[in-house]
Amino acid sequence: MKIYNSLTRNVEEFVPNEPGRVSMYTCGPTVYHFAHIGNLRTYICEDVLEKILRFSGYDVKRVMNITDVGHLSSDADTGEDKMLKGAQREHKTVMEIAKFYTDAFFQDCEKLNIKMPDVVEPATNCIPEFIHMVEVLLEKGFAYKAGENVYFDTSKLNEYYVFGNQNEDELMVGVRDDVSEDSNKRNKNDFVLWFTKSKFEDQALKWESPWGVGYPGWHIECSCISMKHLGEKMDIHCGGVDNMFPHHTNEIAQSEAYLGHKWCNYWFHVHHLNDETGKMSKSKGEFLTVSLLESKGYDPIVYRLFALQSHYRKPLTFSYETLDQTAATYKKLKNRIASIKADGEVDEAVVKEWHDKFAEAVGNDCNTAMGLTLLYDVLKSDLSGSAKLKVIEDYDYVLSLNLLKAEEAGEDDDELTAYVEGKIAERAQAKKDKDFARADAIRDELAEKGIIIEDTREGVKWKRA
Ligand code: AMP
Ligand code: ZN
Repeated sequence: MKIYNSLTRNVEEFVPNEPGRVSMYTCGPTVYHFAHIGNLRTYICEDVLEKILRFSGYDVKRVMNITDVGHLSSDADTGEDKMLKGAQREHKTVMEIAKFYTDAFFQDCEKLNIKMPDVVEPATNCIPEFIHMVEVLLEKGFAYKAGENVYFDTSKLNEYYVFGNQNEDELMVGVRDDVSEDSNKRNKNDFVLWFTKSKFEDQALKWESPWGVGYPGWHIECSCISMKHLGEKMDIHCGGVDNMFPHHTNEIAQSEAYLGHKWCNYWFHVHHLNDETGKMSKSKGEFLTVSLLESKGYDPIVYRLFALQSHYRKPLTFSYETLDQTAATYKKLKNRIASIKADGEVDEAVVKEWHDKFAEAVGNDCNTAMGLTLLYDVLKSDLSGSAKLKVIEDYDYVLSLNLLKAEEAGEDDDELTAYVEGKIAERAQAKKDKDFARADAIRDELAEKGIIIEDTREGVKWKRA
């Protein structure tokens, strides 16, 4: 298994801390609004990574946080609290907003066949852990109090920014270009670990702490939640590229200062989904969601296929035109698979060969496009029908495209329904005329197209294979 590591900026052989086991952490959603399909691209790619690891035989433990406090409208420590903004928008409490959008997020994940992580932990569950980490950082001299907040002191580190070769001044541009400098900070990259006397007097959620009533900064939650469930050394940490700075950079700074040793070995970053006007973001107003795609008649799995056709380390541009092409590809693929007939014994050794080929293809830095190519190779191969079905089922563990799931006829299947019913009527006539060869030929013709017909007492019924 090979994986690109943002820390070294190289594709590396993946070697976990413990042989056969992988600890994996995913930055979860900020639950103040629906996830847009850009966010979901990141979660699809992380899901694929987890499944490739499992497919390759690793035992994976995956943890995800839910950001329900502390994420401000800028990724640095400025602007309004995103949760509070959501609550004000909808005249609800912050916790109502968090519950509603957490549920909505997991519903979207289910529609996209994104597996539920082994552990999901909301930030508001872990306040004592955050306070403990901040206390230790203060004791060790990596943090200071100023203006009644607690800050991380980046000047105490040998190396602060580890992901890229940009210099720190360049990094800050864009993160806070329209915001005045916080005069409490000793160094401009310092960040808040705990807010007490904040400028956000109306902050809804506040907790007692040794530094007064307040709330945690955003970055501390991922360090604490991952350590709580995965221990002091972690294999893979994931997120979208926008999380590299300042979020992941600050996570590394505070975690390694707290632990006194290296924390996470591999950093996996998914590039953005853009729309034709640029990066997709929730603050732009109207944004693309899974429900919106469904309301336009798209199966959410078509969006999953759309995401899998490209590499996670390349930006991807969304357009309805490309989504339509993907929908047509998906339909053809499903029909082709539905027409495969199970025809007896399966040679397990051959299935294993195809399994290993797929593991190698997708295991090369999550090359899902190569995985799809291999799926077409299976369809074109001279494998028996039963063997093909077995291999497709195996691949679909990673791809999760419902490749073997029978379709239920829906409203948009009018054309198909008319066609099948026409054929059923033709077959009934053939039977009436005692032309059984013709009747059987019609049944076979339908089976070729993945349509199974059954003669029942209530008449002829049909379904997709
Ligand atoms: P958020 O809910 O804003 O905390 O973001 C959830 C995840 O989506 C994070 O891992 C982000 O890095 C990622 N993300 C944000 N915008 C995009 C985008 N346009 N395309 C892909 N991933 C994104
Ligand atoms: Zn995070």
